Amino acid sequence: MKKIVLIYGGRSAEREVSVWSAFSVLKAMDYTQVEVQTVFISKEGDWVKGTLFTAPPKNEGELHLSYAISKEDDAPDYTGVIISPSEIYEKGAIAFPVLHGPMGEDGTIQGFFETIKMAYVGSGVLASANGMDKIMTKHLLQVAGIPQVPFVPVLRNEWKTSPKTIFDLCEGTLVYPLFVKPANMGSSVGISKVENRQELQKAFELAFEYDSRVIVEQGIDAREIEIGLLGNEEVKTTLPGEIVKEAAFYDYNEKYIDNKIQMAIPAEVESEIVVKAREYAKRAFQILDGSGLSRADFFLTKNGELFLNELNTMPGFTQFSMYPLLWENMGLSYSDLIKELITLGEKRFEVRQ
Ligand code: ATP
Ligand code: MG
Ligand code: MG
Ligand code: MG
Repeated sequence: MKKIVLIYGGRSAEREVSVWSAFSVLKAMDYTQVEVQTVFISKEGDWVKGTLFTAPPKNEGELHLSYAISKEDDAPDYTGVIISPSEIYEKGAIAFPVLHGPMGEDGTIQGFFETIKMAYVGSGVLASANGMDKIMTKHLLQVAGIPQVPFVPVLRNEWKTSPKTIFDLCEGTLVYPLFVKPANMGSSVGISKVENRQELQKAFELAFEYDSRVIVEQGIDAREIEIGLLGNEEVKTTLPGEIVKEAAFYDYNEKYIDNKIQMAIPAEVESEIVVKAREYAKRAFQILDGSGLSRADFFLTKNGELFLNELNTMPGFTQFSMYPLLWENMGLSYSDLIKELITLGEKRFEVRQ
């Protein structure tokens, strides 16, 4: 039996999404080949050793989902044992960090796996850090010649010492509406769309609550299409899917609480655009040094202009999420996708030893 250590929860603002993703993954594992040790990372950063699954969970309670999602002290029935992180190590075991956002998707935990010499699913330190940081991503995409919307990076210290300079820079370079985002975050947490200077001020205050680095982007009116990537040095891409929009943009509640997102897979897009998007996605994955999986998010304007928005190295991974559905459309089932990701993680580990 192969041992998978499924790590979920985490300290970031995206921890709930991680719990949902982990539950889907746990249900879809092939228990004739693997057993799954679950490890939950609490909001405080404690590592809690959970159940060892040798069969799929029958219900959400088995993963202590309510515990994981609620404020932790609301769930006194949880009986996990707090461990030291390095106790997850077992020879031949592979870690599957189903974690989104900072301290999970940003290279920190990947560095820990490297240090204890443990194989793991997904991108390494460099790609995780590059992909999580929207400013770094944009700099690298610029080098790779991949089109993107104009942007202004802002550091907290610059903003504190001379806000007027920052306002003038943003308004001189970009035209309202603007999008203000913490550099290191996902699931739309801390993001605002702003129409004037007053709103821009508020948006900075919010974004700087999450990160000391903020990016201001040109807002555009565009369709949103996404491409799935799977592979290491050799990487495959999916046909695009589309996020069909009703709202101006999907915030966290719309994405996850109200389930308002509608997807069209495959997206109805001209074939030249499809070719271009797949090519840009691949080039971005390579320049960021991606491995395992990623989801590339694009904007497509009415005039057929294509801009790469970002590369998510650990995209939402529930059975109803875009990334697995993109692969399902290519003929790869959710369970087989998980198997392939584990194999890719093991291969990457072998190459690096
Ligand atoms: P996730 O990782 O969940 O995809 P995120 O927090 O990394 O989200 P983005 O994908 O950059 O954030 O932005 C969230 C959403 O906001 C986009 O899907 C899009 O709807 C809207 N949006 C972001 N930037 C722009 C922009 N420059 N112009 C127009 N809409 C934008
Ligand atoms: Mg993102
Ligand atoms: Mg994300
Ligand atoms: Mg996105």
